[in-house]
Amino acid sequence: MDIHEYQAKELLTKFGVPIPRGGLAYSPEQATYRASELGGPVVVKAQIHSGARGKAGGVKLCRNEREIEEAAESMLGRKLVTHQTGPAGKLVSRLYIEEATNIDREIYLGFVMDRASERIVVVASAAGGMDIEEISATQPDTIIRVTVDPAVGMQQFQARELAFGLGVDPDIVNKLVPAIMGCYRAFRDLDAMMVEINPLVITKEKQVLALDAKMSFDENALFRRPHIAELRDKSQEDPRETYASDRGLSYVGLDGDIGCIVNGAGLAMATLDMIKLAGGEPANFLDIGGGASPERVTKSFKAVLRDKNVRAILVNVFAGINRCDWVAKGVVDAVKELDIKMPIVVRLAGTNVEEGRKIIDNSGLTVISAETLADAAKKAVEAAKKAA
Ligand code: GDP
Ligand code: MN
Repeated sequence: MDIHEYQAKELLTKFGVPIPRGGLAYSPEQATYRASELGGPVVVKAQIHSGARGKAGGVKLCRNEREIEEAAESMLGRKLVTHQTGPAGKLVSRLYIEEATNIDREIYLGFVMDRASERIVVVASAAGGMDIEEISATQPDTIIRVTVDPAVGMQQFQARELAFGLGVDPDIVNKLVPAIMGCYRAFRDLDAMMVEINPLVITKEKQVLALDAKMSFDENALFRRPHIAELRDKSQEDPRETYASDRGLSYVGLDGDIGCIVNGAGLAMATLDMIKLAGGEPANFLDIGGGASPERVTKSFKAVLRDKNVRAILVNVFAGINRCDWVAKGVVDAVKELDIKMPIVVRLAGTNVEEGRKIIDNSGLTVISAETLADAAKKAVEAAKKAA
């Protein structure tokens, strides 16, 4: 789960990470009021779940009331399209008004879960301000990495190593180390998956400040972090994914027209591959879980059908603990209950597969039975092409 920049800053400041003074605004009038509280020039920043706002006109330095009003008018209520949001963009309904900073140096600082080493890895670069992808492509040797040993946590000396590696003055090192340690503690204590400060700046006045902040959290840990869970902003999410996750389904929206209902994440991935191989495009990843109870099958159909691009549905279930006849009954009931007219291809394998196929074939519905996964993918692609 992602959160907004202002929310991340609010969390990080509690861990001793220095941030500029700022306040939230929902209207141009509030924006000028916030600026008057801060005094002096301000930066008006669109709050959306995306980086690269600066290049897209979502970060503006303003010197007077007129400029603040203009910036606020140009952002609020509009969709901001950055190279991270996709062409649809994301709606700006909040602005963060922050006191302007005299930037001397911009540093990149990121904390991520490294799946290969199963550890938190801290990444820093003296070439801050740009995307990390851009830094690693153009200036790979500026990137410094430190791996945290989970048995002892991040150590002061590791933060100092990063600071010296960035080539900052010794008096700045003493300010940088608590900022780095603060981000680490926030990451660990709040069950974050990612903390990114880009840029972390050194000001002309020799202060260290987190000028931007991005955090995302482990959804599986939200149950024990209610104060993080309540920071969720559904308006920034793919509505298809919000609908599915609110109903306990593991769903990822894609751009194609073949809806997928599969039990097991690995099988779901294989199903997407097979659809592609057969020349089609999947509309989603959906793992209904091992149980595949009739209730979950119905919920899954509802979630898949909310995507208006879907022209055919492929149900692929391997019944190990489960039974194919039970799943088949769930599919037939769901299709009847939801009155689905769209072509549905069902491939069942495993326990009681013969009984399951019989239920599908004798249901009186126009459900297309498939023997193998390759066969199912081919039939689903054909059905979607015919419907288009
Ligand atoms: P992003 O584009 O979404 O990553 O938004 P950022 O918050 O990182 O802002 C983009 C860029 O705007 C930063 O890299 C800075 O160069 C610049 N910027 C942001 N705040 C200030 C500020 O207070 N003063 C100045 N001079 N530049 C700023
Ligand atoms: Mn940034």
